[in-house]
Amino acid sequence: MGSGHSGNRVLACAIFVALLLGASGGALAEGFDPIEATNQYLASVSPEDEANTNAYVDTGYQIQVMGLILNLVVAGLLLRLGWSAKWRDLAERLVKWRFLQAFIYTPIYLVVTAVIGFPLAWYSGFYVERKFGLGTQDFGSWFVELLQELGIGLIVFSLFIAFLYLIIRLSPQRWWMWGSGLVISFMALLMLAGPVFIEPIFNEYRPMDEGPLKEKILSIARANGMSVDDVKQVDASKQTNRVSANVSGLFGTTRIALNDNLLNRTSPDGVEAVMAHEIGHYVLNHIWKTMTYFVLIFLVGFALASGAFKSLVRRRGRAWGVRGVEDYAGFPLLYAIAAIFFFVTTPMFNTLTRVHETEADLFAINATQNPDAWAEVALLTSEYRKLHPPVWEEKYLNHHPSPWARIHMAMVWKAEHLPAEESPVVLDHRMKPTASPDEGATLQTD
Ligand SMILES: [Zn+2]
Repeated sequence: MGSGHSGNRVLACAIFVALLLGASGGALAEGFDPIEATNQYLASVSPEDEANTNAYVDTGYQIQVMGLILNLVVAGLLLRLGWSAKWRDLAERLVKWRFLQAFIYTPIYLVVTAVIGFPLAWYSGFYVERKFGLGTQDFGSWFVELLQELGIGLIVFSLFIAFLYLIIRLSPQRWWMWGSGLVISFMALLMLAGPVFIEPIFNEYRPMDEGPLKEKILSIARANGMSVDDVKQVDASKQTNRVSANVSGLFGTTRIALNDNLLNRTSPDGVEAVMAHEIGHYVLNHIWKTMTYFVLIFLVGFALASGAFKSLVRRRGRAWGVRGVEDYAGFPLLYAIAAIFFFVTTPMFNTLTRVHETEADLFAINATQNPDAWAEVALLTSEYRKLHPPVWEEKYLNHHPSPWARIHMAMVWKAEHLPAEESPVVLDHRMKPTASPDEGATLQTD
Protein backbone atom coordinates (compact mmCIF):
# COMPACT_ATOMS: atom_id res chain seq x y z
CA MET A 1 0.00 0.00 0.00
CA GLY A 2 2.91 2.31 0.93
CA SER A 3 4.50 2.14 -2.50
CA GLY A 4 1.08 2.54 -4.02
CA HIS A 5 0.60 5.68 -2.00
CA SER A 6 3.89 7.24 -3.06
CA GLY A 7 3.11 6.12 -6.59
CA ASN A 8 -0.09 8.15 -6.38
CA ARG A 9 1.87 11.15 -5.20
CA VAL A 10 4.27 10.88 -8.11
CA LEU A 11 1.28 10.65 -10.41
CA ALA A 12 -0.34 13.65 -8.75
CA CYS A 13 2.87 15.65 -9.17
CA ALA A 14 3.11 14.65 -12.79
CA ILE A 15 -0.47 15.77 -13.38
CA PHE A 16 0.23 19.03 -11.56
CA VAL A 17 3.29 19.68 -13.72
CA ALA A 18 1.33 18.78 -16.82
CA LEU A 19 -1.42 21.21 -15.81
CA LEU A 20 1.18 23.93 -15.23
CA LEU A 21 2.71 23.27 -18.64
CA GLY A 22 -0.73 23.30 -20.15
CA ALA A 23 -1.45 26.60 -18.46
CA SER A 24 1.80 28.14 -19.64
CA GLY A 25 0.92 26.95 -23.13
CA GLY A 26 -2.11 29.18 -22.61
CA ALA A 27 -0.24 31.99 -24.35
CA LEU A 28 -1.76 30.42 -27.44
CA ALA A 29 -5.25 30.59 -25.96
CA GLU A 30 -5.13 34.36 -26.24
CA GLY A 31 -5.63 33.87 -29.94
CA PHE A 32 -8.22 31.57 -31.33
CA ASP A 33 -7.47 27.94 -32.02
CA PRO A 34 -10.36 26.16 -33.79
CA ILE A 35 -9.40 22.77 -32.42
CA GLU A 36 -9.18 24.05 -28.87
CA ALA A 37 -12.48 25.88 -29.30
CA THR A 38 -14.09 22.71 -30.68
CA ASN A 39 -12.80 20.66 -27.78
CA GLN A 40 -14.12 23.24 -25.34
CA TYR A 41 -17.60 22.79 -26.76
CA LEU A 42 -17.29 19.02 -26.61
CA ALA A 43 -16.05 19.14 -23.01
CA SER A 44 -19.49 20.27 -21.89
CA VAL A 45 -20.88 16.81 -22.65
CA SER A 46 -20.46 14.52 -19.65
CA PRO A 47 -18.70 11.16 -20.10
CA GLU A 48 -21.93 9.42 -19.02
CA ASP A 49 -23.97 11.16 -21.70
CA GLU A 50 -21.32 10.41 -24.29
CA ALA A 51 -21.26 6.72 -23.32
CA ASN A 52 -25.06 6.64 -23.48
CA THR A 53 -25.06 8.04 -27.02
CA ASN A 54 -22.29 5.68 -28.14
CA ALA A 55 -24.32 2.73 -26.91
CA TYR A 56 -27.41 4.07 -28.69
CA VAL A 57 -25.58 4.48 -32.00
CA ASP A 58 -23.94 1.04 -31.74
CA THR A 59 -27.36 -0.49 -31.07
CA GLY A 60 -28.53 1.22 -34.28
CA TYR A 61 -25.79 -0.55 -36.24
CA GLN A 62 -26.82 -3.88 -34.73
CA ILE A 63 -30.42 -3.19 -35.73
CA GLN A 64 -29.33 -2.58 -39.33
CA VAL A 65 -27.62 -5.98 -39.43
CA MET A 66 -30.57 -7.67 -37.70
CA GLY A 67 -32.89 -6.06 -40.26
CA LEU A 68 -30.92 -7.50 -43.15
CA ILE A 69 -30.84 -10.98 -41.60
CA LEU A 70 -34.58 -10.80 -40.88
CA ASN A 71 -35.36 -9.74 -44.47
CA LEU A 72 -33.31 -12.60 -45.89
CA VAL A 73 -34.74 -15.22 -43.53
CA VAL A 74 -38.33 -14.09 -44.19
CA ALA A 75 -37.80 -14.09 -47.97
CA GLY A 76 -36.29 -17.57 -47.76
CA LEU A 77 -39.25 -18.84 -45.71
CA LEU A 78 -41.92 -17.32 -47.97
CA LEU A 79 -40.30 -18.94 -51.00
CA ARG A 80 -39.38 -22.34 -49.52
CA LEU A 81 -42.68 -22.85 -47.71
CA GLY A 82 -44.50 -21.92 -50.91
CA TRP A 83 -46.47 -19.14 -49.19
CA SER A 84 -45.63 -16.58 -51.84
CA ALA A 85 -46.81 -18.94 -54.60
CA LYS A 86 -50.05 -19.58 -52.65
CA TRP A 87 -50.78 -15.84 -52.40
CA ARG A 88 -50.13 -15.51 -56.14
CA ASP A 89 -52.55 -18.40 -56.79
CA LEU A 90 -55.18 -16.75 -54.61
CA ALA A 91 -54.78 -13.42 -56.45
CA GLU A 92 -55.11 -15.19 -59.82
CA ARG A 93 -58.24 -16.99 -58.69
CA LEU A 94 -59.90 -13.82 -57.44
CA VAL A 95 -59.14 -11.49 -60.38
CA LYS A 96 -58.14 -12.10 -63.97
CA TRP A 97 -56.61 -8.64 -64.63
CA ARG A 98 -52.95 -9.07 -63.73
CA PHE A 99 -52.49 -5.42 -62.77
CA LEU A 100 -55.17 -5.79 -60.07
CA GLN A 101 -53.65 -9.01 -58.72
CA ALA A 102 -50.97 -6.81 -57.13
CA PHE A 103 -53.67 -5.37 -54.86
CA ILE A 104 -54.30 -8.84 -53.41
CA TYR A 105 -50.76 -10.22 -53.33
CA THR A 106 -49.04 -7.10 -51.92
CA PRO A 107 -51.31 -6.45 -48.89
CA ILE A 108 -51.02 -10.11 -47.80
CA TYR A 109 -47.25 -9.95 -48.24
CA LEU A 110 -47.00 -6.69 -46.25
CA VAL A 111 -49.23 -7.80 -43.38
CA VAL A 112 -47.49 -11.17 -42.97
CA THR A 113 -43.99 -9.65 -43.09
CA ALA A 114 -45.09 -6.90 -40.69
CA VAL A 115 -46.31 -9.51 -38.20
CA ILE A 116 -43.09 -11.54 -38.47
CA GLY A 117 -41.01 -8.37 -38.27
CA PHE A 118 -42.95 -6.89 -35.35
CA PRO A 119 -40.48 -7.83 -32.59
CA LEU A 120 -37.66 -5.99 -34.38
CA ALA A 121 -39.94 -3.03 -35.18
CA TRP A 122 -40.90 -2.84 -31.50
CA TYR A 123 -37.29 -3.19 -30.36
CA SER A 124 -35.88 -0.54 -32.71
CA GLY A 125 -38.79 1.87 -32.90
CA PHE A 126 -40.08 1.75 -29.35
CA TYR A 127 -37.89 -0.04 -26.82
CA VAL A 128 -34.48 1.34 -27.84
CA GLU A 129 -35.77 4.90 -28.36
CA ARG A 130 -37.24 4.96 -24.86
CA LYS A 131 -34.33 3.15 -23.25
CA PHE A 132 -31.93 5.85 -24.41
CA GLY A 133 -34.23 8.69 -23.42
CA LEU A 134 -35.22 9.77 -26.94
CA GLY A 135 -38.71 8.33 -27.39
CA THR A 136 -41.60 10.09 -25.65
CA GLN A 137 -44.52 7.89 -26.70
CA ASP A 138 -46.31 5.25 -24.72
CA PHE A 139 -46.82 1.87 -26.33
CA GLY A 140 -50.41 2.58 -27.37
CA SER A 141 -49.74 5.72 -29.37
CA TRP A 142 -46.59 4.20 -30.87
CA PHE A 143 -48.54 1.14 -31.96
CA VAL A 144 -51.33 3.23 -33.49
CA GLU A 145 -48.75 5.10 -35.59
CA LEU A 146 -47.22 1.80 -36.66
CA LEU A 147 -50.66 0.71 -37.91
CA GLN A 148 -51.15 4.03 -39.70
CA GLU A 149 -47.77 3.61 -41.41
CA LEU A 150 -48.74 0.10 -42.42
CA GLY A 151 -52.02 1.45 -43.84
CA ILE A 152 -50.21 4.05 -45.95
CA GLY A 153 -47.69 1.39 -46.97
CA LEU A 154 -50.48 -0.94 -48.14
CA ILE A 155 -51.79 1.71 -50.54
CA VAL A 156 -48.51 3.14 -51.81
CA PHE A 157 -46.63 -0.15 -52.01
CA SER A 158 -49.48 -2.02 -53.73
CA LEU A 159 -49.60 0.72 -56.37
CA PHE A 160 -45.84 0.59 -56.78
CA ILE A 161 -45.80 -3.20 -57.17
CA ALA A 162 -48.69 -3.09 -59.64
CA PHE A 163 -46.79 -0.63 -61.86
CA LEU A 164 -43.44 -2.37 -61.41
CA TYR A 165 -44.86 -5.69 -62.59
CA LEU A 166 -46.70 -3.95 -65.43
CA ILE A 167 -43.34 -2.64 -66.59
CA ILE A 168 -41.78 -6.09 -66.14
CA ARG A 169 -44.51 -7.67 -68.30
CA LEU A 170 -44.13 -4.99 -70.97
CA SER A 171 -40.35 -5.29 -71.07
CA PRO A 172 -39.08 -8.50 -69.40
CA GLN A 173 -35.50 -7.84 -70.58
CA ARG A 174 -35.23 -4.09 -70.04
CA TRP A 175 -37.58 -3.59 -67.06
CA TRP A 176 -34.69 -2.57 -64.82
CA MET A 177 -34.19 0.59 -66.90
CA TRP A 178 -37.82 1.68 -66.66
CA GLY A 179 -37.99 0.48 -63.05
CA SER A 180 -35.48 3.13 -62.01
CA GLY A 181 -37.70 5.82 -63.55
CA LEU A 182 -40.70 4.35 -61.72
CA VAL A 183 -38.95 4.55 -58.34
CA ILE A 184 -38.05 8.21 -58.91
CA SER A 185 -41.61 9.02 -60.02
CA PHE A 186 -42.94 7.46 -56.83
CA MET A 187 -40.37 9.29 -54.72
CA ALA A 188 -41.34 12.60 -56.34
CA LEU A 189 -45.04 11.91 -55.82
CA LEU A 190 -44.49 11.00 -52.17
CA MET A 191 -42.45 14.16 -51.63
CA LEU A 192 -45.13 16.24 -53.30
CA ALA A 193 -47.86 14.62 -51.22
CA GLY A 194 -45.86 14.45 -47.98
CA PRO A 195 -46.63 17.86 -46.46
CA VAL A 196 -50.24 17.79 -47.67
CA PHE A 197 -51.46 14.24 -47.08
CA ILE A 198 -48.96 12.15 -45.11
CA GLU A 199 -47.24 14.31 -42.47
CA PRO A 200 -50.52 15.74 -41.05
CA ILE A 201 -51.62 12.18 -40.19
CA PHE A 202 -48.87 11.94 -37.58
CA ASN A 203 -48.27 15.52 -36.48
CA GLU A 204 -49.81 18.92 -36.35
CA TYR A 205 -48.10 21.51 -38.53
CA ARG A 206 -49.11 25.03 -37.69
CA PRO A 207 -47.71 28.42 -38.68
CA MET A 208 -44.86 29.48 -36.43
CA ASP A 209 -45.78 32.30 -34.05
CA GLU A 210 -45.25 35.75 -35.55
CA GLY A 211 -42.28 37.61 -34.13
CA PRO A 212 -38.73 38.73 -34.75
CA LEU A 213 -37.40 35.17 -34.96
CA LYS A 214 -39.84 34.20 -37.71
CA GLU A 215 -39.03 37.44 -39.54
CA LYS A 216 -35.32 36.64 -39.37
CA ILE A 217 -35.87 33.16 -40.79
CA LEU A 218 -38.04 34.48 -43.63
CA SER A 219 -35.45 37.18 -44.28
CA ILE A 220 -32.69 34.56 -44.69
CA ALA A 221 -34.96 32.67 -47.09
CA ARG A 222 -35.74 35.76 -49.19
CA ALA A 223 -32.13 36.90 -49.23
CA ASN A 224 -31.11 33.54 -50.67
CA GLY A 225 -33.72 33.21 -53.36
CA MET A 226 -36.24 30.98 -51.60
CA SER A 227 -39.77 32.27 -51.94
CA VAL A 228 -41.65 31.21 -48.82
CA ASP A 229 -44.11 33.28 -46.88
CA ASP A 230 -44.46 31.03 -43.88
CA VAL A 231 -42.52 28.82 -41.51
CA LYS A 232 -44.30 25.84 -39.97
CA GLN A 233 -43.94 24.51 -36.48
CA VAL A 234 -44.46 20.81 -35.81
CA ASP A 235 -45.30 19.12 -32.48
CA ALA A 236 -42.47 16.58 -32.77
CA SER A 237 -42.24 16.29 -28.97
CA LYS A 238 -45.23 13.97 -29.32
CA GLN A 239 -42.79 11.30 -30.52
CA THR A 240 -39.27 12.33 -29.57
CA ASN A 241 -36.95 14.60 -27.61
CA ARG A 242 -34.75 15.16 -30.65
CA VAL A 243 -34.07 18.65 -31.82
CA SER A 244 -34.56 18.97 -35.56
CA ALA A 245 -36.13 20.72 -38.50
CA ASN A 246 -36.78 19.85 -42.10
CA VAL A 247 -37.59 21.07 -45.55
CA SER A 248 -40.06 18.94 -47.45
CA GLY A 249 -42.45 18.97 -50.36
CA LEU A 250 -41.88 19.67 -54.01
CA PHE A 251 -42.94 22.50 -56.30
CA GLY A 252 -45.90 24.23 -54.65
CA THR A 253 -45.93 22.07 -51.52
CA THR A 254 -42.41 23.02 -50.43
CA ARG A 255 -42.24 24.23 -46.86
CA ILE A 256 -39.75 24.62 -44.05
CA ALA A 257 -40.69 23.37 -40.62
CA LEU A 258 -39.00 23.49 -37.25
CA ASN A 259 -39.88 21.16 -34.44
CA ASP A 260 -41.07 22.31 -31.04
CA ASN A 261 -38.08 20.68 -29.29
CA LEU A 262 -35.85 23.06 -31.21
CA LEU A 263 -37.91 26.04 -30.10
CA ASN A 264 -38.04 24.90 -26.48
CA ARG A 265 -34.45 23.82 -26.06
CA THR A 266 -32.41 26.21 -28.19
CA SER A 267 -31.62 29.91 -28.18
CA PRO A 268 -33.24 32.05 -30.90
CA ASP A 269 -29.83 32.21 -32.61
CA GLY A 270 -29.68 28.41 -32.59
CA VAL A 271 -33.15 28.15 -34.14
CA GLU A 272 -32.11 30.64 -36.81
CA ALA A 273 -28.96 28.61 -37.57
CA VAL A 274 -30.94 25.38 -37.96
CA MET A 275 -33.52 27.02 -40.21
CA ALA A 276 -30.72 28.54 -42.32
CA HIS A 277 -29.41 24.98 -42.72
CA GLU A 278 -32.82 23.82 -43.99
CA ILE A 279 -33.04 26.81 -46.35
CA GLY A 280 -29.57 25.78 -47.55
CA HIS A 281 -30.87 22.31 -48.52
CA TYR A 282 -33.51 24.02 -50.63
CA VAL A 283 -31.33 26.71 -52.18
CA LEU A 284 -28.59 24.20 -53.03
CA ASN A 285 -31.16 21.97 -54.79
CA HIS A 286 -30.36 18.96 -52.64
CA ILE A 287 -33.71 17.28 -53.29
CA TRP A 288 -33.18 17.33 -57.06
CA LYS A 289 -29.55 16.29 -56.79
CA THR A 290 -30.51 13.37 -54.55
CA MET A 291 -33.13 12.23 -57.03
CA THR A 292 -30.59 12.37 -59.86
CA TYR A 293 -28.18 10.16 -57.90
CA PHE A 294 -31.02 7.81 -57.08
CA VAL A 295 -31.91 7.34 -60.77
CA LEU A 296 -28.36 6.13 -61.38
CA ILE A 297 -28.13 4.02 -58.23
CA PHE A 298 -31.46 2.29 -58.89
CA LEU A 299 -30.42 1.69 -62.49
CA VAL A 300 -27.39 -0.25 -61.26
CA GLY A 301 -29.38 -1.91 -58.47
CA PHE A 302 -32.21 -3.10 -60.69
CA ALA A 303 -29.75 -4.30 -63.37
CA LEU A 304 -27.96 -6.41 -60.76
CA ALA A 305 -31.30 -7.59 -59.35
CA SER A 306 -32.50 -8.58 -62.81
CA GLY A 307 -29.39 -10.70 -63.40
CA ALA A 308 -29.35 -12.28 -59.94
CA PHE A 309 -33.08 -13.03 -60.08
CA LYS A 310 -32.78 -14.84 -63.41
CA SER A 311 -29.92 -17.05 -62.33
CA LEU A 312 -31.54 -17.94 -58.98
CA VAL A 313 -34.96 -18.69 -60.47
CA ARG A 314 -33.35 -20.85 -63.16
CA ARG A 315 -31.99 -23.05 -60.38
CA ARG A 316 -34.66 -22.86 -57.67
CA GLY A 317 -37.74 -21.46 -59.40
CA ARG A 318 -39.52 -24.80 -59.70
CA ALA A 319 -39.06 -25.61 -56.00
CA TRP A 320 -40.38 -22.18 -55.00
CA GLY A 321 -43.27 -22.21 -57.47
CA VAL A 322 -41.90 -19.06 -59.16
CA ARG A 323 -42.43 -19.03 -62.94
CA GLY A 324 -40.26 -16.08 -63.85
CA VAL A 325 -39.53 -12.42 -63.21
CA GLU A 326 -43.06 -11.39 -64.27
CA ASP A 327 -44.59 -13.64 -61.56
CA TYR A 328 -45.72 -11.88 -58.36
CA ALA A 329 -44.68 -15.00 -56.43
CA GLY A 330 -41.04 -14.09 -57.07
CA PHE A 331 -41.33 -10.75 -55.27
CA PRO A 332 -39.72 -11.93 -51.98
CA LEU A 333 -36.62 -12.88 -53.97
CA LEU A 334 -36.51 -9.48 -55.67
CA TYR A 335 -36.92 -7.86 -52.25
CA ALA A 336 -34.13 -9.96 -50.71
CA ILE A 337 -31.75 -8.97 -53.53
CA ALA A 338 -32.70 -5.31 -53.02
CA ALA A 339 -32.11 -5.65 -49.25
CA ILE A 340 -28.58 -6.94 -49.85
CA PHE A 341 -27.92 -4.21 -52.44
CA PHE A 342 -29.01 -1.42 -50.10
CA PHE A 343 -27.12 -2.88 -47.16
CA VAL A 344 -23.90 -3.05 -49.16
CA THR A 345 -24.37 0.44 -50.62
CA THR A 346 -25.21 2.05 -47.25
CA PRO A 347 -21.78 3.77 -47.05
CA MET A 348 -22.38 5.33 -50.45
CA PHE A 349 -25.84 6.64 -49.52
CA ASN A 350 -24.38 7.90 -46.24
CA THR A 351 -21.67 9.81 -48.07
CA LEU A 352 -24.12 11.36 -50.54
CA THR A 353 -26.23 12.61 -47.64
CA ARG A 354 -23.27 13.71 -45.55
CA VAL A 355 -21.86 15.81 -48.39
CA HIS A 356 -25.20 17.63 -48.67
CA GLU A 357 -25.37 18.08 -44.91
CA THR A 358 -21.90 19.59 -44.83
CA GLU A 359 -22.86 21.97 -47.64
CA ALA A 360 -26.02 23.02 -45.81
CA ASP A 361 -23.98 23.51 -42.60
CA LEU A 362 -21.59 25.90 -44.33
CA PHE A 363 -24.52 27.64 -45.98
CA ALA A 364 -26.08 28.19 -42.55
CA ILE A 365 -22.89 29.53 -41.00
CA ASN A 366 -22.37 31.92 -43.93
CA ALA A 367 -25.99 33.06 -43.98
CA THR A 368 -26.18 33.73 -40.23
CA GLN A 369 -22.55 34.79 -39.71
CA ASN A 370 -22.90 33.12 -36.33
CA PRO A 371 -20.62 30.07 -35.97
CA ASP A 372 -21.26 29.77 -32.23
CA ALA A 373 -25.00 29.41 -32.76
CA TRP A 374 -24.27 26.57 -35.17
CA ALA A 375 -21.93 24.98 -32.63
CA GLU A 376 -24.66 25.20 -29.97
CA VAL A 377 -27.17 23.21 -32.02
CA ALA A 378 -24.56 20.81 -33.39
CA LEU A 379 -23.72 19.93 -29.80
CA LEU A 380 -27.36 19.02 -29.12
CA THR A 381 -27.19 16.35 -31.82
CA SER A 382 -24.71 14.53 -29.56
CA GLU A 383 -27.81 13.15 -27.83
CA TYR A 384 -28.16 10.74 -30.75
CA ARG A 385 -24.89 11.02 -32.71
CA LYS A 386 -21.43 10.05 -31.51
CA LEU A 387 -19.46 13.14 -30.51
CA HIS A 388 -16.27 12.31 -32.34
CA PRO A 389 -16.30 8.87 -33.95
CA PRO A 390 -13.23 7.32 -35.61
CA VAL A 391 -12.68 8.46 -39.19
CA TRP A 392 -13.83 5.16 -40.75
CA GLU A 393 -17.09 5.31 -38.82
CA GLU A 394 -17.67 8.93 -39.82
CA LYS A 395 -16.97 8.09 -43.47
CA TYR A 396 -18.89 4.86 -43.88
CA LEU A 397 -21.57 4.72 -41.20
CA ASN A 398 -22.56 8.36 -40.55
CA HIS A 399 -25.12 10.03 -42.76
CA HIS A 400 -24.68 13.33 -40.93
CA PRO A 401 -21.40 14.94 -39.85
CA SER A 402 -20.55 14.25 -36.21
CA PRO A 403 -20.94 17.06 -33.68
CA TRP A 404 -17.14 17.32 -33.66
CA ALA A 405 -16.96 17.77 -37.44
CA ARG A 406 -19.78 20.33 -37.43
CA ILE A 407 -18.42 22.38 -34.55
CA HIS A 408 -14.91 22.26 -35.97
CA MET A 409 -16.23 23.53 -39.29
CA ALA A 410 -17.90 26.43 -37.47
CA MET A 411 -14.76 27.19 -35.45
CA VAL A 412 -12.57 27.21 -38.57
CA TRP A 413 -15.05 29.66 -40.11
CA LYS A 414 -14.86 31.75 -36.94
CA ALA A 415 -11.07 31.80 -36.98
CA GLU A 416 -11.06 32.96 -40.59
CA HIS A 417 -13.52 35.75 -39.85
CA LEU A 418 -12.04 37.15 -36.64
CA PRO A 419 -10.37 40.54 -36.96
CA ALA A 420 -6.65 39.94 -37.58
CA GLU A 421 -5.44 41.30 -34.23
CA GLU A 422 -7.78 38.98 -32.37
CA SER A 423 -6.64 35.84 -34.08
CA PRO A 424 -2.86 35.57 -34.18
CA VAL A 425 -3.13 31.82 -34.75
CA VAL A 426 -5.13 32.02 -37.93
CA LEU A 427 -2.05 31.63 -40.09
CA ASP A 428 -0.82 28.86 -37.87
CA HIS A 429 -4.08 27.01 -38.24
CA ARG A 430 -4.14 27.50 -42.00
CA MET A 431 -1.02 25.40 -42.16
CA LYS A 432 -2.84 22.57 -40.44
CA PRO A 433 -6.48 22.95 -41.35
CA THR A 434 -7.21 19.37 -40.40
CA ALA A 435 -7.90 19.09 -36.76
CA SER A 436 -7.14 15.59 -35.66
CA PRO A 437 -4.95 12.86 -37.12
CA ASP A 438 -8.27 11.25 -38.12
CA GLU A 439 -9.32 14.19 -40.20
CA GLY A 440 -5.87 14.38 -41.74
CA ALA A 441 -6.35 10.85 -42.96
CA THR A 442 -9.72 11.80 -44.46
CA LEU A 443 -8.24 14.59 -46.49
CA GLN A 444 -5.39 12.47 -47.74
CA THR A 445 -7.55 9.58 -48.84
CA ASP A 446 -10.46 11.59 -50.27
ZN1 LIG B 1 -29.77 18.71 -43.12
